[in-house]
Amino acid sequence: MKAILTLGMALAAGIDAYSAECVVVELGNPTAVPPQVLLRAKDVAASIFAGIGVELRWSVKGHRKAAGCSMRVEVELETSDGPEDRPGVLAYASVGIEADKRVHVFVDRVNAMVPALDRAALLGHVLAHEITHILEGVARHSDAGVMKARWEARELRELGRRPLRFQLVDQALIHAGLIHAGLAAIE
Ligand SMILES: [Zn+2]
Repeated sequence: MKAILTLGMALAAGIDAYSAECVVVELGNPTAVPPQVLLRAKDVAASIFAGIGVELRWSVKGHRKAAGCSMRVEVELETSDGPEDRPGVLAYASVGIEADKRVHVFVDRVNAMVPALDRAALLGHVLAHEITHILEGVARHSDAGVMKARWEARELRELGRRPLRFQLVDQALIHAGLIHAGLAAIE
């Protein structure tokens, strides 16, 4: 019982410490995805980040901006220019100091990857994965979880029922990236 209480307190303290962490995600071309699929995908991505105490605040490009976060990520929902356009890639993010902090998602490839019922869960995970690349600020992958370079067929089938999580290294890099963005916003 004592161990459970201690763990509970540690978790509560951790969540408190990170409660100020949020990211504005600005969606470009949201009508590229059916509204109910996009809504569910946003929920999936938001709950993956909520699991590590980070809040995603959604807005639409060109509309009133969501405020209050030191980090903002732009997400373009688009169609690939055919198989030669970044072959085999579902989405990509431009990372690095000079990068524009923008994610590009090939909606046509997400749709082709899984049956219709699983598209929202896959899109949510793709959003979480690419937003994380921006937050971490480096081009790296983990050997499991949300930041795995390629999810296996078994994982793809179960994304809706068993959402993937962040490995500890990704949690640390995300929080470090947000702290850095917060400090840069103050300067
Ligand atoms: Zn990646």
